[in-house]
Amino acid sequence: MENDAPNRRLLHRLPELARNLLWSWRPSIQTVFERLDAKLWEDTEHNPTRLLAETKNLPTAAEDDGFIAAYERAVREMDEYLAETSTWTAAAYPEAAPSGGVAYFSAEFGLHESLPVYSGGLGVLAGDHVKSASDLGLPLTGVGILYAQGYFRQRISADGRQSEEYESFDPSTRPLEAATDGNGDEAYVSVELPGRELRLKVWRVRVGRVSILLLDADVPENYDDDRALTSRLYGGGRRTRISQEMILGIGGVRALRKVGASPAVFHMNEGHAAFLALERMREAVSENGRSFDEARDEVKRTTVFTTHTPVPAGHDAFEGDLFWEFLSEWPEKLSTDGDILWRLGADTAGRFNMTRLAMNLSASQNGVSEIHGEVSRDMLGGGVKHITNGVHTWSWLSPRMENLFEKHARGRAWRRCPETPSAWSFVEELPDGELWTAHSETKREMASFINARLEIQSERSGSRKQSLDPDALIIGFARRFATYKRATLLLSDPERLRRIVGDPSRPVQFVFAGKSHPADEPGKEFIRTLHASADGLGEAIVFLEDYDMNIARHLVGGVDVWMNNPRRPLEASGTSGQKASLNGVPNFSVLDGWWPEAYNGKNGWAIGEEKEFASEDEQDSADVESLYGTLENSIVPLFYERSEGVPHGWAAVMKEAIITVAPEFSTQRMVQDYAHKMYAPNGLGRNPGE
Ligand SMILES: *Cc1c(COP(=O)(O)O)cnc(C)c1O
Repeated sequence: MENDAPNRRLLHRLPELARNLLWSWRPSIQTVFERLDAKLWEDTEHNPTRLLAETKNLPTAAEDDGFIAAYERAVREMDEYLAETSTWTAAAYPEAAPSGGVAYFSAEFGLHESLPVYSGGLGVLAGDHVKSASDLGLPLTGVGILYAQGYFRQRISADGRQSEEYESFDPSTRPLEAATDGNGDEAYVSVELPGRELRLKVWRVRVGRVSILLLDADVPENYDDDRALTSRLYGGGRRTRISQEMILGIGGVRALRKVGASPAVFHMNEGHAAFLALERMREAVSENGRSFDEARDEVKRTTVFTTHTPVPAGHDAFEGDLFWEFLSEWPEKLSTDGDILWRLGADTAGRFNMTRLAMNLSASQNGVSEIHGEVSRDMLGGGVKHITNGVHTWSWLSPRMENLFEKHARGRAWRRCPETPSAWSFVEELPDGELWTAHSETKREMASFINARLEIQSERSGSRKQSLDPDALIIGFARRFATYKRATLLLSDPERLRRIVGDPSRPVQFVFAGKSHPADEPGKEFIRTLHASADGLGEAIVFLEDYDMNIARHLVGGVDVWMNNPRRPLEASGTSGQKASLNGVPNFSVLDGWWPEAYNGKNGWAIGEEKEFASEDEQDSADVESLYGTLENSIVPLFYERSEGVPHGWAAVMKEAIITVAPEFSTQRMVQDYAHKMYAPNGLGRNPGE
């Protein structure tokens, strides 16, 4: 026993490895947890904190030389990453760190399935933004909410009905830690709600070199009802919504102060966070003796706003009664009167609008694609710029593709500077056979993962058992089931669809996944319709329940084509097609959001045309005609055109997808754009090279 004591001591940094989400994009760190307990790794949904608490394998691992070596490699990798000083930011913005950096406020963060505080694209974008900020050495602190029950687990009944299951999680079982104040005590802040103070515990999620602070109302000092205020993302009614936005905006600024952060720039990711500006004005008025006007101008100069919603109805707004019930003390706090405060957010419908507040109190604003920038300028006015969304390369590239690229890339440029197009030129010369093998293996793994899930799903719901055939052409469609995304467009002409999928020598399958917001009945109806139509089509349409980042990772690398057919111009950007293209899975999409900026006729397929239609029906029929026609004439034939098993024509599209999408639509490029266009002009400090 004495001999293994030193080894066991050596494992003392495992909890630290688990608590920094760097493992979520570093396979060599993740592998330590997987090796330690492969079964628990799956059973805990890849949650290393729970795995370490529950595994019984530590004593054996401590005597396993192979494990110790992997562990030491992982610790070294984390230490090196954290110690790196010659980052992109250090060169481009040397004043960024002394300035205090950026505070990035978002109602949701999609970092990993083990921390389910996201619902969809907005959250995943925020998570990818933070990860790239870390990679780039950009000093940034995220601010969000710890939802005790997350979003929800989606269950689909045998007749296609969505139900929502909520389970509470104990924060101590998640990869996060209590944030501390300057004295090393656990950090708490409070926010005034009508007639009481709400106390909030502050948690810290470490994401590489940066962190995210998450606010949590579930503490014993609060009334029971108040403890539930942060239970659910986008749950509850208007009172819960305004409370959550006060928690995020007002509580968020107080949390930053509590942990000793004084950011130079405040970034509102969507209007949910706009109350942060009022709190900063309150600080300026009551702590620094500024007048209301001075405070407003000061805050505005150092605030930036990203809008994501192309329809007016999507913007959060509160009726006067509700607003004044919650913010009655704020005119006095800001040393102004009610009318002036109201005008900061007043919209034409007579409500207090969070987008208006964000517009009025920010120095720079942006939409999230070129088209969305235009739409936002029309809707919100003036100087709204655009910065097109991207994805965090290392979170979305499948391990097999990563290995293939590693083998053929010349040098490290594609790893260090994935935003540089020339760094990806090696992809042109990848041998088709190797590319096809890497994809096919990922596809096989995806199919066995999905098929295992489908089996559980059918056993629980009593529905027909379906499975994916990895030899078929598999087309993926997975995203939130909001009606504008038109998930049922494919079903418009059942006979034609039947012909497309019905050729036994050229099988075609569609895999669908996605949650509908609990209150979105039309969205849920889409799921029912898909389910009902699938019944008559054998294995052609498969619906997998409970879409999350884990399923997303499998699908974006493993399917053959990524399909998206939103109603133009309602897809502000979309990012899942970027994840797919990065993996050589070509995008097949309506020319909306990011896709018109990337589509070149060789890197995927367009659905419909970029034009205005007289009616929604007209757009639907034009798009569906294009969708079927492109499947029949281009996609299916090209996929099945093989020479010695390898589809060379298809491989050319795959390569073109990777080369054109991987660099430009990475968050590495996106966060640099934010630094240049949004952060630097508004407080981050100058770029000495410009
Ligand atoms: C990337 C992602 C999204 C966004 O998908 P879009 O098709 O861009 O709407 C939504 N949910 C999850 C889990 C994702 O990973």
